[in-house]
Amino acid sequence: MNENEAMDLLKKFVGLHTENGNEKVVADEIKAIFDRAGVPCKVLPLEEDPTRANLVAQLGHGEPVLGITGHMDTVSAQQEGWKTDPFEVVEDGDLIYGRGVTDMKAGLAAMVFAMLDLKKHEDQMHGTVRFLATAGEEVGMPGAAALYEQGYMKGVQALLVGEPSGYNIVYATKGELNLNIAMKGKAAHSSTPQLGINAVENLIEFLDVISKRIKDAAAGRSNPDLGDTVFNIDVIRGGQQVNAIPESANAEVNMRIIPEFNNKEILAILDDEVKKFNESHKASVSYEVTMDISPAIGPKDAKLVDVVRSVGERHLKEQGKPGEIPMFGVSGGTDGSVLLLDSPKDTAYVMFGPGNDTMHCVNESLPKAMYFDFIGIYEDIIDEYMGIEK
Ligand SMILES: [Zn+2]
Repeated sequence: MNENEAMDLLKKFVGLHTENGNEKVVADEIKAIFDRAGVPCKVLPLEEDPTRANLVAQLGHGEPVLGITGHMDTVSAQQEGWKTDPFEVVEDGDLIYGRGVTDMKAGLAAMVFAMLDLKKHEDQMHGTVRFLATAGEEVGMPGAAALYEQGYMKGVQALLVGEPSGYNIVYATKGELNLNIAMKGKAAHSSTPQLGINAVENLIEFLDVISKRIKDAAAGRSNPDLGDTVFNIDVIRGGQQVNAIPESANAEVNMRIIPEFNNKEILAILDDEVKKFNESHKASVSYEVTMDISPAIGPKDAKLVDVVRSVGERHLKEQGKPGEIPMFGVSGGTDGSVLLLDSPKDTAYVMFGPGNDTMHCVNESLPKAMYFDFIGIYEDIIDEYMGIEK
């Protein structure tokens, strides 16, 4: 790999529109590259939509099995304020711009290059590397769910996720539970409220009840790696005009989940409160779960953690930036939350990938040098994990 090839592949990936869908075009592109290099791989279209697909590639055989994964979708680029075409990689000084350069087409491209490099040293491998490129990480994680159900995580002892962490190791991510709560009342003129049922007032009452109950239940339960449960009411909609009793209202709630107070327990509380509310009120409440992912925590003393840290610190030193690679848990989930659902507790989980804090933003950017560096980092991590001496 030289820097021109690296830029060409990233430009190609960014140019392929995969805003919350259409990932098969990227999967086909990767397949063409792997076919030319003799890396065995398959494109696996999602059942519900043939324009969406995962890709699985594998080299080596036997244990240990190292999974490396990245997603091919991006969030939407239809936002005001882009200074450049989001589907073109534009270089400006040390930075490159484009939708997905940080989250996470550079990480994905770096993993592709690492697989191509590994192919050349395949006969020296002690173990298996399985590359999982996924669809739909940004919304609902259908790609990761399909791979998990199809058994592609079986036997994986360590999972490296190329999401943007920069030079930091993330070994734990909170789960997430999003709800859309709908309140149904009855419309009436505001001068005769007794003829109607005020959906907005009922919704406020219900939100107050569940907020209190969930916060009470969360109190005193904390996770040493991830901290506390988070509960936010982020959207409220309801009512049409000031002189009419609103017939309907809805709210969106976002929760960040720790293992000590899990998704199932929270949903049980919710079901209980919905039942109680509907039995005692004229208005009726219901809810829909719009996101439901579990927290994921990997062991801090895993071999993958040690390898990532030593390779990362060596690369920093080579750039004249010696220092330690910090390690922590974060709030946002990754495909790892789904892929690791059934994995043994000692399965390593490390998120380590090129990127800065512009993910999901307009003018998403990435230091160009970090992209190039992570290609070498992934090659070295895999070599070290697979016992390859070059
Ligand atoms: Zn991402």
